[in-house]
Amino acid sequence: MKIKKGIPLIDQHDKNFMYGGKFGGNFIPETLKKPIDDLTKLFHKLRNDKGFLKERDYYFENYVGAPTPFIKLDNLTKHLKGAQIYAKVVSEANGGAHKIYNATVHCLLARRSGKKFVIGDTGAGYAGKMLSMAAKKFGLKCKIFMGAKDIKRQQPNVKAIKKNGAEVVPVYSGSQTLVDAVSECMRYWVANCNHAHMAVGSTVGPSIFVRICGWSTSQISRELKSQIIDEFGSMPKKIKLYNCVGGGSSSFGFWNEFMDYNRKQVEFIGVEAGGPTKSKKHAAPLTYGSKIGILHGAAQYVNQNSDGQIEETESISAGLDYPGVSPLHCFLKDVKRARYTAASDEDALEAYKLVTKYENLKPSLEPSHAFSVAIKEARKLSKDTIVIVNSCGDAHKDKDILEKRLGKKYAKFN
Ligand SMILES: *Cc1c(COP(=O)(O)O)cnc(C)c1O
Repeated sequence: MKIKKGIPLIDQHDKNFMYGGKFGGNFIPETLKKPIDDLTKLFHKLRNDKGFLKERDYYFENYVGAPTPFIKLDNLTKHLKGAQIYAKVVSEANGGAHKIYNATVHCLLARRSGKKFVIGDTGAGYAGKMLSMAAKKFGLKCKIFMGAKDIKRQQPNVKAIKKNGAEVVPVYSGSQTLVDAVSECMRYWVANCNHAHMAVGSTVGPSIFVRICGWSTSQISRELKSQIIDEFGSMPKKIKLYNCVGGGSSSFGFWNEFMDYNRKQVEFIGVEAGGPTKSKKHAAPLTYGSKIGILHGAAQYVNQNSDGQIEETESISAGLDYPGVSPLHCFLKDVKRARYTAASDEDALEAYKLVTKYENLKPSLEPSHAFSVAIKEARKLSKDTIVIVNSCGDAHKDKDILEKRLGKKYAKFN
């Protein structure tokens, strides 16, 4: 299996919507077939519609805040005495993270389809928060399905969702977490697909959601490519792009425009959440060789026990705490286009300390995982290597954890 040049990766699936014959697809009940077929038709029509693309670009610029900054981390570079270190500061986007790109596109699709409301599932609550925020902007009603257990432990995001005028639907079945919220949201969609549009918050889920999300976050690498050429005059000989990987939407979006470059020129490094050093639990199915299983309607590498039951994850960063990973990343791993590794909770905290010591940048705990690996590797690289980290989230949301783990000094925001 190989990546075909000149074709967007999201379109390199077979007739069953599988990548590399093994990942993705639509493992869904028959009743979901119609709403998914309708959404697929809508997306394929609109992604080739000049008017729609203009609308998307308008809102990316005037609502999301594109392009986000591309900055050199001079002090960190000097301190490490290795590669040149840069950051793409995607956390400057509206809402403080990249999830707004996908949420915005879903609301634009809903509006075009004439539907009056959007529904979505959420685990940690960030996807729900962003969807509710975009729904408010575009005058759509919004329902967010969330496991009862997650509602208890993610109160700030639950409040934010409600503040945006959306309804939070508690799900009491099963483990009362994301997996159950997903099932419940899909059931609701089947019964209400004539007036409800469904969104999934990352490059996961049945195939169409993987493709819509990847298409949306690719804005990040479109911007980055022209920012790199502005900065260096042409594409440098050696670039390394570091990104944290949860479901995989920010990393996919950060890499997509560079897919056809030789991996020696533009290398992709995905950093998963290794969890606490002392714990066996993690959220790193690619790094630790998890087996293929079905989660969220798609085949993927997923943490599971010997009976094939999905295993619980553990990570300091709520955004990375997902047992599976996008089929696009499973494919990129198999064809060796991307390299995957993990950083522990402690690694991420150390990286946060170092970055904030030297720079005016406060990456949330998710991108701090990526910084951890980038910092370790940059030390050993020569100064003609360009290291770029996607700083995809703002640390403000992690204030309480930072204070608890690192002390008040590291949890000051103004
Ligand atoms: C949700 C989230 C992630 C993980 O999701 P991906 O789909 O892998 O990008 C990473 N960083 C931040 C800041 C998030 O909010």
